[in-house]
Order: sequence, then structure tokens, then C-alpha cells
Amino acid sequence: MAAAAASVGHSSKGGGGRIHRLEVENFKSYKGTQTIGPFFDFTAIIGPNGAGKSNLMDAISFVLGVRSAHLRGAQLKDLIYALDDRDKEAKGRRASVRLVYNLPGTGGELHFTRTITGAGGSEYRIDGRLVTWDDYNAKLRSLGILVKARNFLVFQGDVESIASKNPKELTALLEQIAGSDELRREYDELEEQKTSAEEKSALVYQEKRTIVMERKQKKAQKEEAEKHLRLQQDLKLLKTEHLLWQLYSIEKDMEKIEAELEDDRRSLQQAREDNQSSDNGLAAKRKEQSAFLKKITLCEKSMSKKKVDIDKKQPELLRLKEQISRLKSKIKSCNKEIDKKKDDNNKHLEEMKRLQSALADVTSAIEELNEQGQDKGVKLQLADDQVQEYHRM
Ligand code: ATP
Ligand code: MG
Repeated sequence: MAAAAASVGHSSKGGGGRIHRLEVENFKSYKGTQTIGPFFDFTAIIGPNGAGKSNLMDAISFVLGVRSAHLRGAQLKDLIYALDDRDKEAKGRRASVRLVYNLPGTGGELHFTRTITGAGGSEYRIDGRLVTWDDYNAKLRSLGILVKARNFLVFQGDVESIASKNPKELTALLEQIAGSDELRREYDELEEQKTSAEEKSALVYQEKRTIVMERKQKKAQKEEAEKHLRLQQDLKLLKTEHLLWQLYSIEKDMEKIEAELEDDRRSLQQAREDNQSSDNGLAAKRKEQSAFLKKITLCEKSMSKKKVDIDKKQPELLRLKEQISRLKSKIKSCNKEIDKKKDDNNKHLEEMKRLQSALADVTSAIEELNEQGQDKGVKLQLADDQVQEYHRM
């Protein structure tokens, strides 16, 4: 067994209204016309499996405009009571659910009816008056029932499914229940508009900034241009003054240069005269030079002649040099010879002295002997070699 719960009109917007009862006709397992209710602040519906508890939830959902896909039926026709296939095939079958809503305060009732027509479409009525879905939905909205948000029904399995949702899915669900999901498109559109407006504003701001900057630039440029013109004017005046000054100094320079020129002319004249006399001197010197050149030429000729002579005499000179060196060495050897001869001579002289003294000795000896011989009448008899020695000495 399972329980289903529904709470309608408890939002602040609804202002305390509630479902009073349901009048179902041939809706799902409810055959014929059935009135379910009244409901209270807290109402529990119990029954065995398949008793039709969830079908009651489906009926509430149906009358509040929930689409058949969310009502456990492929198409609306499936929601019409049918006992068997034959019933299903029968034509002109209809089903409807009326929700009786207790208006807060007044105690009045509001009847919402949704009918599945024989053609298989939906019809909506408020207090029996046929209305469009938009009006029907607007009325429900005014009571705080946001059909799309499904913020008034907790179906079988919803608790488990909510418990198993991740934060993102929970947020999506809460947004759906709070109805902010409804506003998403509008929010997105507005967001887009805001973004584009911001972009535009940024663009405009950028343009404004550009314009301000340009204006600033232009102003600066204008000031610059004015300053430039002023400076140009000043420059013109200064240039004029400068040119005048230049003119003045040029005139001064010219006077000075003319004076200098006069001096230069005079010194040029002097230089020319000097030059003339120098030229005269030069001519004389040139004559002298040519005479010297002639002399030089003659000298060179004679030099070359002498050279030729020298060259001719060169072998003779060589020969003479050789002869001289030969003679020198001969003189040297002769000198040596002379020295030697002198030595020999000295030796001979000494020998002669010695021999002369010996001869004197011998002579005196001979004379002594001769005297002795005369005295004795005996003549000295000498051997042959002694005679020879005597003569040699
Ligand atoms: P549980 O406790 O198991 O959730 P329940 O009380 O919620 O049971 P429901 O789902 O409300 O049961 O009812 C299911 C019953 O409704 C089924 O027996 C089914 O045959 C019946 N049913 C569904 N659609 C139709 C229809 N078009 N015509 C006749 N009976 C229908
Ligand atoms: Mg059920």
C-alpha cells in the first residue's frame, strides 16, 4: 500500500484556499461520476495496491492541466475509464474531472473542470464557463498554482527521487517549484537584453571616451597649432631680425674685406714686382744653371772617359798591385836577409876582432920568434896548413 499527498492553495499568493472535493467522471479507474472529498487540512487516502490512490493524484494533476505524459498515459484517451479493450474501442467516450476549490475568506467555491472530449482533446471550464487554456492557467496562477512548476503535488517516488538528486538537479527542482524556472526564458531574454544593453552601453561609453579623448586631442592639437602659429610668427620676426643682423654684419665684413682686398692688391702688386725681379734673377740663374749643366755634362763626359780609362787600366793596376805585394814580401824577406847579414856581419866583425887580436898575438909571437931566430940564426919553419891559416887570417 502506498500513500499520495496533495496540497493546493497553501501558498501566500493563494491566501489559504484549498481543494474542497473532486468530482470525477469516467477518469481512469473511477467509473461513472464519483465525488471524492471533502478534503481537510490533512487528509490521508489509503487503500490496497491498485485501489486508485495514484489515480486520484492523476485526477488532481489532470484537472490542473498537467499533460497526459505526466499522468502515466501515452494519450488523453488512455485516461478515460475502460474496463476492457472493447470499452476502449467504443466511440464518443468522455471523461472529466471537476475540482471544487474553496475560496479563502468568502467561503465561495470556484469550479475548475477539464474534460476529455470524444475527439480526444481537452476542454477547460471555470465555473462551467468554457475558457481557453491560457485563461484557465492564469486563474490557477492567481491562486498560486503553477502547473508547470508542479509545486503542489508530491507523487509516489518523488521523495526518493529528490533524495537521490545532486545539488545541481536539486537546484533545478527548487527553481521549478519556486516558479523561477518559469521566469528562466524571460530572465535569459532579459539577461541577453541586459548583456546587449551593457555591450551597447560599453560601446557608447567607449565611443564617448573616444570622443572625449578625440576632443581632448583636438583641443591639444588646436592649442599646439595656435602655439605653432605664434611661434612661427615669432620665428618670422626673429628670422627677419637675424637676416637684418646678417645683412649688417655682411656689410661690415664687406667693408673689412674690401680694405683687406686693397691691402692684398697692394701686396699682390708688390709680390708681382718681386716676382718680376725674381724672374729676372731666375733667368740669370737659369743661364748660370745651363752653363753649370754644360760643365756638368762635360765633367760627366770626362768622368766617363776617365772611368773608361780606369777600367782599361784596371788589369794593369791589378797586375801592379800584385807586383807591389810581391815586391813588399820580397822587401820583407830582403829586410830579414839584411838583418841576418847584419847579424852575420856583427859576428864576423867580432870574429875579425878576435882574429885580429889573435893575429896580433901571432904576429907578436912571430916577431918574437923571428927575433929569437935572428938571434939564433934559425928560421921558423911552418907546416903547410899553418901557413894557409896564417894567410886566411
Ligand atoms: P499502489 O498502492 O500500488 O500505488 P494505487 O492505489 O496507487 O496502487 P492506482 O495506480 O491508482 O493504484 O490504480 C491502478 C489501477 O487503475 C489499476 O488496477 C489499473 O487497472 C486501473 N486503471 C488505470 N487506468 C484505467 C482506465 N483507463 N480504466 C480502468 N481502470 C484503469
Ligand atoms: Mg500508487
